[in-house]
Amino acid sequence: MGGLGFEKREYCGAFGILSFSGSSVSSDIYMGLMNLQHRGQDSAGAATSDGKQVFLLRKLGLVSDIFGPQALEQLSGFAGIGHVRYPTIGAGGVEDAQPFAAESGGRKFALAHNGNLSNYGRVRKAMEEDGHAFCSSCDAELLLAAFAEAYGKSKDIFSACKAVMEKVDGAYSVVMVSDDGQLVAFRDPRAIRPLCWGRSKDKIAFASESVALDIIKCRLEGDLAPGEVVVASRSGVKRRQVFSPSSPRHCAFEYIYFSRPDSKLDGRWVYEVRHRLGAALAKAAPVEADVVIAVPDTARSAAEGYSKQSGIPVAEGLIKNRYIGRTFIMPSQKKREDAVRLKLNAVRNIIEGKRVVLIDDSIVRGTTSGPIVGLVKEAGAKEIHLRITCPPVIGPCFYGIDLPTYKELIAASHSVEEIRKKVGADSLAFQTIEDLVEAIGIKKESLCLGCLNEDYPTPFGKHISRMMKASKSLRKEGVRVWEEQG
Ligand code: AMP
Repeated sequence: MGGLGFEKREYCGAFGILSFSGSSVSSDIYMGLMNLQHRGQDSAGAATSDGKQVFLLRKLGLVSDIFGPQALEQLSGFAGIGHVRYPTIGAGGVEDAQPFAAESGGRKFALAHNGNLSNYGRVRKAMEEDGHAFCSSCDAELLLAAFAEAYGKSKDIFSACKAVMEKVDGAYSVVMVSDDGQLVAFRDPRAIRPLCWGRSKDKIAFASESVALDIIKCRLEGDLAPGEVVVASRSGVKRRQVFSPSSPRHCAFEYIYFSRPDSKLDGRWVYEVRHRLGAALAKAAPVEADVVIAVPDTARSAAEGYSKQSGIPVAEGLIKNRYIGRTFIMPSQKKREDAVRLKLNAVRNIIEGKRVVLIDDSIVRGTTSGPIVGLVKEAGAKEIHLRITCPPVIGPCFYGIDLPTYKELIAASHSVEEIRKKVGADSLAFQTIEDLVEAIGIKKESLCLGCLNEDYPTPFGKHISRMMKASKSLRKEGVRVWEEQG
């Protein structure tokens, strides 16, 4: 990781809710965050408003540990926001946990977001030169500072959000609550990270994924448009698209890996997309085999799709220890390898003597596939045919997915055959970008496929990518080092 102290990338979940009748929302925030927990297990936080002041709570740990009865009581009010943060290498302490709060124009605002600002270092430096002091290295603090600065001048939420969009580059799906009980949500001009909204009789809610609306019985109404701002208060809801680019650029990796299969993102069910990804692999990379096995959990829907398309039965040949977190949270490579064994075990009687089609969602660093193939081999598989629902990941992400730099991405420097040899499979096939786009069902120009084809959707993302490629030392780790030097 780079040494400048800004290494973190925020990959998170955000939630916001308002009760029109004025009832308490703290338990809804708790429930919503529980269903976003897969998007971040490092810290969680919430801010609520009772119409007079903002109550703030943020801590390291899981939602269920943080939001006990006492905490929920403390978070009084009829409007509020919540956040879960994804743990990345070098992630800071509680000072980086969201939400952040600040005063501007005689009001107090609390803000949380999901995404990553690609020009964080540059904007921060400029704001520091103007006299701003920052107490964390979290880009939510910078977003709030930019909003507060603009709001202080205009006293208008819509134009302050527009000013933020003009100042920062990157992905941000934002929720805010004010001391006087307004709830604000906005999405960056390319709508890179998801943000949907829903209603019940008494409530309006915003969430990174629709599963957080399901749990509080809010009906999914839709997704925020690129550059759209929604301001809700007890007297009503106002929506305005303050910034209109030519096309959205929704992140494809949300469908491939990050979102829950029971979520609907930008009009597409994640389960259906993954099912189609599996079916597409069966068509494009067929193989004679006896059983289709998913690497749990993400690849399960794709394994069903592969099985349905190919006619080869699917079975649960790998069982996951449900008390182990996602392997990426392990801070070192060695630990990640150990984690595979901690996390997965093979079902010998399903695998022994069989030709296995093994489905996984992605190969990023290439450190987990080898040990998984090893497990299946040890359980007696005759052949192992690895099928990956994601095309080769060849570029870093500047928009909030915790993908490493070029040096660590195995597909950036190895051919498919080299990767096959390295992981020890009998055959290996990746999805094509064309099949991925078709499975998602959103036109290519409206997707961000930056990590797969290096076509980054924002000017600063393109710039950092060019700089990283041009440099002789692709060895430098930590995307933010480049952001700052940009
Ligand atoms: P590896 O190839 O060793 O880097 O591991 C790839 C596996 O990690 C995939 O199969 C996913 O299950 C998981 N994964 C992929 N991308 C991410 C990410 N951005 N954050 C956390 N886990 C990820």
